[in-house]
Amino acid sequence: MKKLIVLSFFLITSALIAQNAEISSPDGKLKVNVTIENGKPVYAVTYNGKAILENSPLGLKTNEGDFISNISFVESSNDKVSKTYEEDRIKQSKISYEANSLTYTIANSDEKQISVVFQVSNNDVALRYELPNWGETMSCVVTEEATGYKFPTFTTSFLSPMMKPMTGFARTAPSYESGYTADASMDSNTAEFGYVFPSLFHVGDNGWVLLSETGVSSLYCGSHLSNYKNGIYTVEYPHALQNNGFGSTGAQIGLPGITPWRTITVGETLKPIAETTISYDLVDPLYEASKDFDYGKGSWSWIVWQDNSMNYDDQVKYIDLASAMGFEYILIDAYWDSNIGYEKMEELIKYAKSKNVDVFLWYNSNGIVNDAFQTPKNKMNTSIARKKELKWLKEVGVKGLKVDFFGGDKQETMRLYEDILSDANYYGLMIIFHGATLPRGWERMYPNFVGSEAVLASEMLIFSQDTRNKEAFYATLHPFSRNAVASMEFGGILLNDYLNKGNERGQKRLTSNVFQLATGVLFQNPVQMFGLTPNNLEDVPQHELDFIRDVPTTWDETVLIDGYPGKYVVLARRHGDTWYIAGVNAQSEALKIKVKLPMIASGEAYQIYEDGKKSEKGFRTVKMKQNQEVELNIPTNGGVLIMN
Ligand code: CA
Repeated sequence: MKKLIVLSFFLITSALIAQNAEISSPDGKLKVNVTIENGKPVYAVTYNGKAILENSPLGLKTNEGDFISNISFVESSNDKVSKTYEEDRIKQSKISYEANSLTYTIANSDEKQISVVFQVSNNDVALRYELPNWGETMSCVVTEEATGYKFPTFTTSFLSPMMKPMTGFARTAPSYESGYTADASMDSNTAEFGYVFPSLFHVGDNGWVLLSETGVSSLYCGSHLSNYKNGIYTVEYPHALQNNGFGSTGAQIGLPGITPWRTITVGETLKPIAETTISYDLVDPLYEASKDFDYGKGSWSWIVWQDNSMNYDDQVKYIDLASAMGFEYILIDAYWDSNIGYEKMEELIKYAKSKNVDVFLWYNSNGIVNDAFQTPKNKMNTSIARKKELKWLKEVGVKGLKVDFFGGDKQETMRLYEDILSDANYYGLMIIFHGATLPRGWERMYPNFVGSEAVLASEMLIFSQDTRNKEAFYATLHPFSRNAVASMEFGGILLNDYLNKGNERGQKRLTSNVFQLATGVLFQNPVQMFGLTPNNLEDVPQHELDFIRDVPTTWDETVLIDGYPGKYVVLARRHGDTWYIAGVNAQSEALKIKVKLPMIASGEAYQIYEDGKKSEKGFRTVKMKQNQEVELNIPTNGGVLIMN
């Protein structure tokens, strides 16, 4: 009897011990603990022994079973993942990914099982759910996810609210175009519709965290962060009102099936946040590129000259501007179909080609989910119309499309994104999305995807005084948040003093020219449609135009030098052998800092371009000091550029 009690005690404790699984990053600093607490699966994250996430919920609910409560442990196993890959359109060109993995299998009260799979690399935790087939059940609908994030209470947040569905311009929201609050207490995160990914958090002295997701294809919906409730944030699926209320908010998956990866990037400093490649590490190309796509820069009349410029003569001026700047592209925006027409467009494309400029054309993504009236519409949302249009685009030599005004994050809409990308690839066309969701690993998944807006972009500098006031503030956030996980088609470098065609009064630009040029490096997107206007050829200093002519749009390496989101940032990017280092300052005081630039050897010459009197003379050549330090002086709303 005594023996039996001892034995059963041993079995119970060993079962309890077995359900506690731990997994560490290859360098041992980032740790995840998984267990079951009162019948609910939970995980916790530490970095260097300090709390990042306290026990936070796991699990999901499907129409075939609930995997959130009444959960029991089944088994766990550990493995390793390692891969190297090259990618020519993101912040880095050669990447090696090493992670330890843990598969943690649980069962619900019906004895149906699912697994939570963790992959932990040195600065990133990734987790997803893997669902087997349950006997003859080969499909299910995932209706809800419990995955949560319980930060220590002293954590502050840098978040952008999810827009209210079917509001804003022509009821086109949500389109990831709201502002940010910086260093806000979690208690203040009460936005009704939650917050978009990526979501940045400062866990005091314990570190920094960027939450996001990747690997969202037509086989799932896009998710976002809930508001702060009962001490946690959770993963939320799209609001039912998105897409004019049409389409399910959950995900329909075949079994065996998987969810997208939830990613948690962790660093003691902001460096691993700005430099992370996790959104690409976890995914693979879904098809082969139909050809080599050429990235580059473009002119874009709509941004400053607006709808009125959608006519043949103004587009000729912008083709000439692109040609004078050595740009590869012109982007011709909405209404080209009615104001220029298909036939004249063919003529315009020929004219562009004669100037060595290729064409991107704008399209309304649909004609059914919102009130966006700009044409061409009803050309991208059905397979029949789309293929007919893409065939014509290929025949007349168009190189890419900008597709605008999507309906939200439902799986219904993810299918449309993927269908457009996949069909466009077949016809050799690149795709930019505007009025769109965050791309989640898409640069790697879809070889002809070349960037999304999904940000309060340059258009709002034209439309809103508040955005002009906050231009520098937002610019210092993007490298740590929106642009850290995906390419960002911002439409930057605006050099008119007033952001309109007359350039004499009105929407006054509050940032300096050096600031504007710096955003050409700071904001990463493989195809950059810049906001130059034809008059800039005459009224902008030659050395500034030359910088824009030379600045690359693709990068081999990205290194954070210094910064604090919402205050300032200094970021270095390498293209081939050349380093471009860009800094901007959003603080009300001038920023004086010493930065170490290990990429420039002592005694080596570099070029520096600063605001103030020095900028009239253009770039100065300076020899790097023995200690490789450079003193930067960046005025409010100003910038600095260093090249080597
Ligand atoms: Ca937009």
